[in-house]
Amino acid sequence: MSTLTAPTIPLLNGSIAPGGSLADFIWFRTGGPAEWLVRPKDVADLSAFLSALDPAVPVLPVGVGSNLIVRDGGVPGVVIRLPKSFARIAIEPGERVRAGGGAMGITVASAARDAGIAGLEFLRGIPGTAGGAVRMNAGAYGRETADILVEATLVLRDGRVETWPAARLGYSYRHSAVPEGAIVVEALFAGVPGDTAAIGAEMDRIAAEREASQPLRSRTGGSTFKNPPGEKAWRLIDAAGCRGLRHGGAQVSEKHCNFLLNLGDATAADIEALGEMVRERVRAHSGVMLEWEIQRIGQYDGASSG
Ligand SMILES: Cc1cc2nc3c(=O)[nH]c(=O)nc-3n(C[C@H](O)[C@H](O)[C@H](O)COP(=O)(O)OP(=O)(O)OC[C@H]3O[C@@H](n4cnc5c(N)ncnc54)[C@H](O)[C@@H]3O)c2cc1C
Repeated sequence: MSTLTAPTIPLLNGSIAPGGSLADFIWFRTGGPAEWLVRPKDVADLSAFLSALDPAVPVLPVGVGSNLIVRDGGVPGVVIRLPKSFARIAIEPGERVRAGGGAMGITVASAARDAGIAGLEFLRGIPGTAGGAVRMNAGAYGRETADILVEATLVLRDGRVETWPAARLGYSYRHSAVPEGAIVVEALFAGVPGDTAAIGAEMDRIAAEREASQPLRSRTGGSTFKNPPGEKAWRLIDAAGCRGLRHGGAQVSEKHCNFLLNLGDATAADIEALGEMVRERVRAHSGVMLEWEIQRIGQYDGASSG
């Protein structure tokens, strides 16, 4: 990993951890550290920090890592993690929910339910932050973040704070035009009037369905590959005989074969190599080259045990 000299990292009111662990909190629980793990105190703090930061230093936001493989060599530069002060939620007129970028999807969905706002129930099933959902255009059950987002507030890499209407985010399937190095610090979502009991029942249904079909208690990264147009990635993976396939300490989930698992001692290289094996087997079997949905970040260090 490149070594930054101390003067290139400006001071901030939050915290800066050199070599801060990402494996401690990301869902896969493996991979290398951040060169600098930064937790800003508030938007002004983040903005001042980024405007003073050497433009050559890469900046990468992370949420709770429910869609991340962090490579074993770690992440050069600054990794931004939004602390609890960025997790506030407020209900606004017109069935709107304003959420900090660090607020969890389930908390946003629950606040909407309590306020009688329907349409945000799907966020109950996505175990990431509002910022991650805006960036990934996270979705489930036929709805996605683009359907409910009114606008998002970003702190750009140079420290400027801007509020972008959803239309400017160039949404498509699991993709947005959130610029590289920009941090989503707030999102304004809109729903429609609904009945609290009915919304709650739908959220319970989603939770039960997830529990039955996904390895929720495992070290995983969610859906590994995007669904190709008109197809389901899991079906292609199953048909190619990859269910349960292992490499080093990593395995294709038996329960849902578009999920990869860290069985306990997997390196990030094991997990990524297993994903590439799956892609190759699916290509050979069906002619479809699956596209990664999981974001792979950081540097390799060649430590695969497989
Ligand atoms: C059990 C399980 C089930 C899942 N089910 C679904 C599902 O049904 N549908 C679905 O779409 N996804 C699903 N996922 C994947 C994942 O939850 C989503 O992609 C989620 O939006 C990621 O949020 P996160 O905060 O964990 O982001 P991370 O995984 O930490 O990061 C993902 C990407 O978003 C960027 N990012 C994170 N926070 C910010 C921010 N504040 N500003 C700018 N960029 C940011 C990161 O740089 C990275 O590129 C599932 C994952 C798991 C583990």
